[in-house]
Amino acid sequence: MTGAEGSTPLTRVRRMPERGHYDRDAIDAILDEAIVCHLSWIYQEQPVVIPTLFARVDDHIYFHGSSGSRTLKGLRAGARVCLECTLIDGLVLARSIFHHSINYRSVVVYGSASEIAEGDEKLAALKAFTEKLLPGRWADARSPNDKELRQTTILRLPIDEASAKVRTGDPGDEEADADYPAWTGIIPIEVTRGTPRPIEGLEWEDPLPDYLTEGLPRLPNT
Ligand SMILES: Cc1cc2nc3c(=O)[nH]c(=O)nc-3n(C[C@H](O)[C@H](O)[C@H](O)COP(=O)(O)OP(=O)(O)OC[C@H]3O[C@@H](n4cnc5c(N)ncnc54)[C@H](O)[C@@H]3O)c2cc1C
Repeated sequence: MTGAEGSTPLTRVRRMPERGHYDRDAIDAILDEAIVCHLSWIYQEQPVVIPTLFARVDDHIYFHGSSGSRTLKGLRAGARVCLECTLIDGLVLARSIFHHSINYRSVVVYGSASEIAEGDEKLAALKAFTEKLLPGRWADARSPNDKELRQTTILRLPIDEASAKVRTGDPGDEEADADYPAWTGIIPIEVTRGTPRPIEGLEWEDPLPDYLTEGLPRLPNT
């Protein structure tokens, strides 16, 4: 879906509006690929921005942390929040400095978060965080115990008012610069997982679980 359909006065992209998207498919795809988001809110009249992990489950974004977190306490108390996450796809090298840019996909979500209660939803959110980081990890690692669950606050933010903005493609140089002798094009940027590195002293004779190495070149001991 393109155009302003689905936007609100708060989320309508004004600068380069053709890059704005408001449909959930576009928004969810970015939320699901991004590992880190930033939470912005007002603390004692001071804007603050805090980076954090997050996961989307259906129509909510979940984020978690220590029960002592200032941000989580502030948001739990009802402060409005703005969440942002960004994926970087490439450096856009124009002939002119003016037209240098970056290819990206980003999402902004506005709303109020609420705390989720102990129980199945809390476990499901923790599973979603873990499986987002590395699918397969939840079943392998020790599950949280009651004390750990009590020490963990999880908030959820409904995806009710959100925008995505996406830049793709080549640099937008001026025609007058067509013969300027500078290289121009895109340098792709990808986030990739590296080879697993065990902690010092780990005694591990078995083959590594598949989920650790999937998508990587086969390792000598696997
Ligand atoms: C990695 C990255 C680098 C960028 N670098 C620059 C830069 O150097 N200079 C620059 O001018 N702009 C840059 N942008 C674009 C920037 O995010 C803004 O979209 C742009 O600056 C317009 O800002 P504005 O305040 O006029 O937004 P407006 O268009 O007035 O914003 C209105 C609404 O549109 C939505 N919106 C705006 N921007 C985004 C976004 N990026 N993602 C999702 N929703 C959005 C929000 O809901 C916002 O409330 C960059 C974006 C990314 C992701």
